[in-house]
Amino acid sequence: MPETMKAAVVRQLGAPLVVEEVPIPVPGPFEALVEVDYSGVCHTDLHAARGDWPVKPVPPFIPGHEGSGRVVELGPSAAGVRVGDRIGNAWLATACGVCRDCLGGWESLCTRQQNSGYSVDGSFAEYMVVDTRYAPRIPEGADAAGITAVLCAGVTVYKGLKVTGARPGDWVVVSGIGGLGHMAIQYAAAMGFRVIAVTGTEAKRQRALDYGAELVVNYRDGDPGEAVQDLVGGAQAALVTAVSEKTFPQALSMLRRGGTVSLVGLPPGDFPLSIFDTVLRGLTVRGSIVGTRLDMLEAVDFFSRGVVSTTFERQPMDAINDIFTRMATGVIDGRVVLDMSL
Ligand code: NAD
Ligand code: ZN
Ligand code: ZN
Repeated sequence: MPETMKAAVVRQLGAPLVVEEVPIPVPGPFEALVEVDYSGVCHTDLHAARGDWPVKPVPPFIPGHEGSGRVVELGPSAAGVRVGDRIGNAWLATACGVCRDCLGGWESLCTRQQNSGYSVDGSFAEYMVVDTRYAPRIPEGADAAGITAVLCAGVTVYKGLKVTGARPGDWVVVSGIGGLGHMAIQYAAAMGFRVIAVTGTEAKRQRALDYGAELVVNYRDGDPGEAVQDLVGGAQAALVTAVSEKTFPQALSMLRRGGTVSLVGLPPGDFPLSIFDTVLRGLTVRGSIVGTRLDMLEAVDFFSRGVVSTTFERQPMDAINDIFTRMATGVIDGRVVLDMSL
């Protein structure tokens, strides 16, 4: 067993990541040491590296919360996995297990949670430590590279769609067709919703139709709210995955009366909310943060059954700063997955 590993480290917020040798972590109670094979790159990792949000991560830290690999060592009391098993990490690295939110099946809201690649080191590394009570299991036989995007993007959009309360046959808008959005269209279609995708990139029109959207609106062609109202009389729900503040009020204007907008995209900033319009039209605005362990099981099951798939390209860890540059301009097709063998 080597003593050091290669990792992409945020040494300073807003500065390029440094790919360097660091000590291999030691698994503590309930933890497993995992040799990472693949890690998806989520836009949250870019927000983390830049320090975009009010609660900032403390450098040095290793981003990454869509990792998959094999268990190589178990810490004390680690249970439910054996050496050699395939396991992943997730944004929800661990939670307290005893607070009202944890007891109520909402561990994703626990105030004492830790987050992979943010408050604890993540998967942009050759090894990572995971809490075996919270880490997602990767089914044997599943594509270990392809499944990584499910571990954050997939579970997040699946949960975000669930909490809208939309029912099969309802029109649902997916705004933004990046890592999250390309999965959201597929989950929404698989859940029986009729999907309208909103993008500003004509190249993504055919992509969105292939993922299962029935209609695609380009917000550069005119007011996208008016377009959705004209096309279907307003959507029952809208899931905002775009990294742009202006898409949030736009999504509200796409709803029918009684509709719900589910906020998952996290651009830093605020948006104006009309009290009059929200009250008179009976709208619901709700935030949605990743998913619980049960949501994860369900989201993985969609992938295992082949009902949803992920579009991704493989890149070496050394390419991380170029990947972030491309991500910032919204040109990535699906996900980039770091392949530790490259
Ligand atoms: P991404 O970069 O892969 O995709 C974002 C997409 O938004 C890009 O395709 C971009 O072209 C598109 N976009 C930008 N401006 C737009 C506009 N005005 N209209 C329509 N589309 C527009 O990012 P991602 O990994 O999919 O993450 C998206 C956001 O979701 C990030 O802010 C991330 O931090 C957040 N996120 C939230 C959760 C959660 O639990 N709530 C989980 C994961 C990610
Ligand atoms: Zn993420
Ligand atoms: Zn808790």
